[in-house]
Amino acid sequence: MDWAPRVKPIKIRRLYRYARLGIYDDTLLQDVGWELYARCTDIATVADVYRGGRVPCPKCRTKVTRRIDPLFSKGEGGTHEHWFRCPHCDKRLLWRDCRQALRNTPRCFTCHAALLKTDVLRCTCGKTWSQEAYKQSVRTRVLLPCPHCFGLVRRPDPPPMDQTTQKRRSESELKCPKCQGIAVHQHGNIECTVCSYKRRWRDYRKSLKKKDEKLECPNCQYTFRWQAWRKSTRSLRTGNPGPAREFVKKWLTCRTPQQRMIQIDILLQTLHGRGPLAPLFIDSGEHKIRQMLDDLASQR
Ligand SMILES: [Zn+2]
Ligand SMILES: [Zn+2]
Ligand SMILES: [Zn+2]
Ligand SMILES: [Zn+2]
Ligand SMILES: [Zn+2]
Repeated sequence: MDWAPRVKPIKIRRLYRYARLGIYDDTLLQDVGWELYARCTDIATVADVYRGGRVPCPKCRTKVTRRIDPLFSKGEGGTHEHWFRCPHCDKRLLWRDCRQALRNTPRCFTCHAALLKTDVLRCTCGKTWSQEAYKQSVRTRVLLPCPHCFGLVRRPDPPPMDQTTQKRRSESELKCPKCQGIAVHQHGNIECTVCSYKRRWRDYRKSLKKKDEKLECPNCQYTFRWQAWRKSTRSLRTGNPGPAREFVKKWLTCRTPQQRMIQIDILLQTLHGRGPLAPLFIDSGEHKIRQMLDDLASQR
């Protein structure tokens, strides 16, 4: 996969040198900005892979579904938690996220309008809660509004083991590693329905992780290996893709050189506050980058 390169510090320094003199060199601004944009897009793409389990094809960028659903796999960016779908908008949800959304923006449990925060929480429909009672409700209610469409969703039961495996089986078709026939996951084994291949599920999963997981693009038929893909993303992986996503969104709304400078500056200020994140964006060592960002900050 061809990932966008990191931005050269010398260009960033030049940008600020000009800006200090009141010069907004739009060619340079566009140059740096679009480089940052490309890099941020890649960082966001990689973060999505670890959350959604679908890998962009290196040739045509079609999303290819992995054979191991990382959401069920600890240590590969998976959470090992129970996902479910909102019956109204079909978004994939975690119960934890439903609760968190209400802690960020309290909503009425009856009419789902955002609540007014005064001494109590008040809804336009007339209902009120004390802060304490509301918190308690968020913790204990089994029906909460979906964070996306605000339709009521029911707390899922923790899945019994075989229900989870049933679901896995229907979601991703298993292939026999020996004959490529259809295999099933049952009784703690993977068993081929065509040949006599049978292996403990746990060992099979381990071997998949160790061995190359081959992925084939359904659009262009290009085949590639997850492990190699994963390796190519090493310098793009972060648990905090927020600043990159934010820049991607904001950059496209910039209309003037000044606005472009502001967005670049906001991103660099954010990186300044988060040391280990900066080398994902800027082509230098962590120490040198910090020095540069310190310099830029002192000139602001
Ligand atoms: Zn599990
Ligand atoms: Zn929904
Ligand atoms: Zn209400
Ligand atoms: Zn077989
Ligand atoms: Zn493809």
